[in-house]
Amino acid sequence: MAPQGPRDPLEFGGPMGAASLMALLPATMLHLLLVARSGPARLLGPPPYLPGLGELWSPGALLLWLTWLGLQAALYLLPARKVVEGQELKDKSRLQYPINGFQALVLTALLVGLGLLAGLPLGALSDMLLPFAFASTLTTFIFSLLLFLKAQVAPASALAPGGNSGNLIYDFFLGRELNPRISSLDFKYFCELRPGLMGWVLINLAMLVQEAELRGSPSLAMWLVNGFQLLYVGDALWHEEAILTTMDITHDGFGFMLVFGDLAWVPFTYSLQAQFLLHHPQPLGLPMASTICLINAVGYYIFRGANSQKNTFRKNPSDPRVAGLETIPTATGRQLLVSGWWGMVRHPNYLGDLIMALAWSLPCGTAHLLPYFYLLYFTSLLVHREARDERLCRQKYGLAWQEYCRRVPYRIVPYIY
Ligand code: NDP
Repeated sequence: MAPQGPRDPLEFGGPMGAASLMALLPATMLHLLLVARSGPARLLGPPPYLPGLGELWSPGALLLWLTWLGLQAALYLLPARKVVEGQELKDKSRLQYPINGFQALVLTALLVGLGLLAGLPLGALSDMLLPFAFASTLTTFIFSLLLFLKAQVAPASALAPGGNSGNLIYDFFLGRELNPRISSLDFKYFCELRPGLMGWVLINLAMLVQEAELRGSPSLAMWLVNGFQLLYVGDALWHEEAILTTMDITHDGFGFMLVFGDLAWVPFTYSLQAQFLLHHPQPLGLPMASTICLINAVGYYIFRGANSQKNTFRKNPSDPRVAGLETIPTATGRQLLVSGWWGMVRHPNYLGDLIMALAWSLPCGTAHLLPYFYLLYFTSLLVHREARDERLCRQKYGLAWQEYCRRVPYRIVPYIY
């Protein structure tokens, strides 16, 4: 693969944008953790206080964090129910990936369940989130550096389309190598769905356990947040194979952006609603809870329907479940769906995801903005991601993509955006 040319557009604001994001993202994460447990829980404004190094740094937290990563790596290496091939690479080869993420989730749940029966003080995690987040941030910087160094000796065909501009900061942020791996351990595939996503639901569970210890039983709001997000994580791991066709795997290098996102940002900020509820209990009646469940179900229905329809179509366009759908041919030989979910808007899966994000925030009431952080951040992430994908699809499919945009004019929300 040719290195990125000087005229190729740099994303994320180039080196300055990358440097700012590398400072801003960890700072924002720590800010959110502090605010979630502060009395006023004000999203905007200064942090309640500035923690000293003594409060952030804990060798015990680092050790536990590394143990968690080690446990997940060991579960990854267990025999898988099936091994699948990824998309074709530039050199025409295909990598193999184990499909055992759901199995890892079940085994992790068993281990945690046994631990709880044996008296594991899981609720105590709520007081250790800051040192855990700090330890995970440190490890993501070190891990990204090791990946960057590994890419120096990788063959040109293993490099990602972006992340090879020649600018150190930008390339460190975006990631140079597309699929760095050692033997059968594919670092990106491993990090995308396992330690972070399972860490997220484990933190949620710790908040639930702690709430039960403090108040006698978990609140309905806490149950809903735990249930919805467990469904989301379980679904992602059940459909693990689908990650192989996403932009993260097929296009983006594995650098600080994904490493930090997967290992630190996801577990510590996506669990914000549960953290908030532990410190700010919210009353929730059954009628409102039922409405929120309905909103989550609608979001999930759209999200799953759209993702499954595209994955089925990409795997086998003659599959009876998608064979009747209208398509547009493209010069690459691939087709674009233009009816069904993908005829409604150009990213129906994003729409479903955003509706679910709303349902995860609503149990926290409307008095605070903090639990809506995920919805706000996720909206901007998906709007930006949609624009990136749009640019890539325009390059890939040319006139056929223009025709698709003409026939399906809305991007994410029908008649609005
Ligand atoms: P998508 O699954 O939306 O994939 C986009 C690709 O789909 C395009 O590049 C194109 O690739 C193909 N495509 C687009 N339109 C059509 C069409 N009409 N017919 C057939 N194929 C089409 O991308 P993402 O990786 O962004 O998202 C995957 C899921 O992950 C989404 O549900 C998203 O919401 C979720 N997500 C969640 C995040 C989180 O933090 N919770 C973060 C990011 C994503 P090609 O033609 O090459 O197949």
